[in-house]
Amino acid sequence: MAKDYLTEAKILIVDDEPSNVRLLERILEMSGCKNIRGITDSRQALPTYFDFEPDIVLLDLNMPHFDGFAIMQQLGMAVTDDFLPILVLTADMTSETRRRALAGGAKDFVIKPLDHTEVVLRIRNLLETRLLHLGMQRQNSILEDQVRERTARLEEALNELRSTQEHIVKQERLRALGMMAGGIAHDFNNALTMMLGYGELLLPWLQQNGSPREQAYLNHIVSAAQDATHVVSRLREFYRPAENNEIRLPVDLNEIATQVVALTAPKWKNRSRADGVQIEVQTDLRDTPLVAANAAELREVLTNLIFNAVDAMPDGGHVTIATMPLGDGVALTVTDTGKGMTEDERERCLEPFFTTKGEGGTGLGLAVVYGIIQRHGGTIEIASEKGVGTTFAIHLPATTEERCIATPITLRVDRTLRVLIVDDQEIICELIAEHLATDGHTTVSAARGHDALEIFRTGSFDLVITDQSMPMMNGVQLAAAIKAISPETPVVLLTGFGEEILAVGARPTGVDLVIGKPVSHADLRRAIFQAMERAEPLASVA
Ligand code: ADP
Ligand code: MG
Repeated sequence: MAKDYLTEAKILIVDDEPSNVRLLERILEMSGCKNIRGITDSRQALPTYFDFEPDIVLLDLNMPHFDGFAIMQQLGMAVTDDFLPILVLTADMTSETRRRALAGGAKDFVIKPLDHTEVVLRIRNLLETRLLHLGMQRQNSILEDQVRERTARLEEALNELRSTQEHIVKQERLRALGMMAGGIAHDFNNALTMMLGYGELLLPWLQQNGSPREQAYLNHIVSAAQDATHVVSRLREFYRPAENNEIRLPVDLNEIATQVVALTAPKWKNRSRADGVQIEVQTDLRDTPLVAANAAELREVLTNLIFNAVDAMPDGGHVTIATMPLGDGVALTVTDTGKGMTEDERERCLEPFFTTKGEGGTGLGLAVVYGIIQRHGGTIEIASEKGVGTTFAIHLPATTEERCIATPITLRVDRTLRVLIVDDQEIICELIAEHLATDGHTTVSAARGHDALEIFRTGSFDLVITDQSMPMMNGVQLAAAIKAISPETPVVLLTGFGEEILAVGARPTGVDLVIGKPVSHADLRRAIFQAMERAEPLASVA
């Protein structure tokens, strides 16, 4: 093995005395060396080094032109090889010379006249050390490469994890807000159902019997309740899950964009005129595939985004609405040159009631946008820079569906029905009964599921309207029991908003139609018509 070092190694000899060079070459050849270069002109030392790239240099100290010290200095400055052994050959072994040589970079010495065996042994030792050193260096650089590569992979994974985590936290926050909003909406709706329902019932009576002032008061109450219902229903757009009977038609986003630009024009044009600022809205619409969507909802999305963009540009600017095919869907972007958002605002702007517009804002616009896009199976990304502008990028999956689903008709049943109303809140039963009585239907009310079943068995009913959350037996359970007795009797389920979250879109078995509270008279009429039509497709209409 030791011999291998010598066989493989390239050895450079620098000595001005040709006989010395020859002697050394011979000694080395006898020990198996195959790669030796000897020079006698010290000026050629450095060029030869670069040409030959030796593993070891055997160097004489006393030479004309450059002596050994000068050559060591040249090599020290020019050579990047970390471990180039220099073996000094000298007849002058004073301690001063040794010290200078070692300080200059020599690794070892041999004294002239040369002891052949010693020379070979020392060269071997130095070569062995060099090889070990090189091996270690190689190993180190492999390790460094591995560490670098793993660090890069780790960094990549960490970044991915971080963005996934941010995404999840945001989703979770919106989900939690949705649950909370649902709970609040549920309670509000019960209250609003009363206010609106009884208010509406009282209106015609007051119009005949009340004073103008009383009528005005009641009008205020009813219209305030209607406004509140509107807020709650916007909130509902934010959190409600997609229902499986929602109507989705193939929609051309470019058409929607063109319509909405026209529809919103009064807002940004008036704004421009009123404040003397210039707002320009332009479109960049490419050929895009159709998406399965509710066109009215998508118009609302775009309207909200354009209004927000206009609000963000009090000093004027540009809004660009662009569409383009992206992946397996369509990208719709709304970009403005407005005031932009801080990181915190960008994070929170989709939350319901988050607004920076004080009294001027409701903070519901983007929450509605978010809810609609979620239900359409799309995503929203927001990029914004304070003082520069904002881009909302919506991605919706494309549809291949050409089928058109008919919009439900909202007409009323023209015959009188016998209806069983079930709600644990007596007052709601009364309210529904009043509305139905106005349309000529007769009703029987029950406060509990079990009572309702008893009544249902003894009388003949055309329809059952039941509340979902009741003690002992809930609406879905009751519906199932009714269907067990009479499969063809339609059952309409009334739900508060919170319960819709639990239902996650699916219509429970036994239930023909789900409607949310609060129900207006018109809602009830429509629901009854739809339920009866489903049960007996020949139901006549008024
Ligand atoms: P509102 O418009 O009633 O404030 P939104 O839900 O529509 O409610 O918007 C919430 C908030 O998001 C706004 O108050 C505003 O701070 C921010 N925002 C939305 N769109 C933009 C936009 N294009 N540029 C800057 N800020 C915006
Ligand atoms: Mg808004």
